[in-house]
Amino acid sequence: MFAVMESARLEALHLAQDPVSGLKAIIAIHSTRLGPALGGCRYLAYPDDDSAIRDAIRLAQGMSYKAALAGLAQGGGKAVIIRPSHVDNRGALFEAFGRMIESFNGRYITAVDSGTSSADMDCIAQQTQHVTSTTAAGDPSPHTAMGVFAGIRATALARLGSDDLQGLRVAVQGLGNVGFALAEQLAAAGVELFVSDLDPGRVQLAVEQLGAHPVSSEELLLTPCDILAPCGLGGVLNAQTVGALHCAAVAGSANNQLAGSEIADALEARGILYAPDYVINSGGLIYVALKHRGEELPAITAHLTQIGRRLTEVYAHAQADKRSPARVADALAERLLYGGR
Ligand code: NAD
Repeated sequence: MFAVMESARLEALHLAQDPVSGLKAIIAIHSTRLGPALGGCRYLAYPDDDSAIRDAIRLAQGMSYKAALAGLAQGGGKAVIIRPSHVDNRGALFEAFGRMIESFNGRYITAVDSGTSSADMDCIAQQTQHVTSTTAAGDPSPHTAMGVFAGIRATALARLGSDDLQGLRVAVQGLGNVGFALAEQLAAAGVELFVSDLDPGRVQLAVEQLGAHPVSSEELLLTPCDILAPCGLGGVLNAQTVGALHCAAVAGSANNQLAGSEIADALEARGILYAPDYVINSGGLIYVALKHRGEELPAITAHLTQIGRRLTEVYAHAQADKRSPARVADALAERLLYGGR
């Protein structure tokens, strides 16, 4: 396990269990160099303990990179609670997890992630103050959307020569909490919208309220457009789909959009500008981190709009070095985390 930790440059790995509530938890603290480690808590079933530990380590590392490039005084961490086949008292389990977090004295701050909710965070908050995305803290999705909108403008400037979105064609895949809020902002900016969602009701809403063109989920990636905004699930950009895209740039909120790191190079080879997902979708993290520090909304919004500036910087380096923006973003994050050039 030390070899795995070393290759991910992970600071610490904690395992804990509580026989009374049934809690089995892993907390991976990747880095506290820039500040306390912040990252969500997953509540999922895993095939074995090893997969859960590796997932926590990989995700914690991703959070360090994301926080560093978002300009936050925050490190990266992640927690995984192994979901039991049956739990008598879910509240008691999350309270036990809260006590575990409290024992870290603020080195790790938790938040909502796959399988957890604001109500779970409220249970954790009964035991520790080192928790965000509680019911009182509010939904980060509109802030993620605001950051993606700023990122789309920066992407349009870099690829199409202007950040005026009026008349551009943008295809939005997924009209959930982030995708719909983004579509609203794009429509207000005069964008011609093409939208898809697995839920026909969401598509109908976008057609009626935003004048969007409905497209089937299968065809959205093939739609001729200026910018493709994946806002559904991850892994949408793979060896097959990249060859079929008809867009000048990809800029959306979905996490882990690239099926593998080599896909960034395939996009580059096709002349499609790619906004690294963890840079453009960092608005939610910025919101929860600054909200936790007691910042007011105007300060949080000002920080969010910096996502556009950061992407412009990434694109400039990418063009100068003839490398994909995804590789440049990783290199910039590593420089912030570990120093050097
Ligand atoms: P959500 O669950 O509210 O919405 C996702 C939507 O995508 C759903 O409506 C779903 O039906 C649709 N969808 C899924 N697969 C699709 C497909 N193949 N074609 C068309 N539609 C599809 O999720 P969300 O909170 O809006 O997040 C969207 C993405 O952004 C996720 O990848 C998430 O990890 C990422 N993200 C979200 C936040 C946030 O603040 N919510 C922050 C950072 C990243």
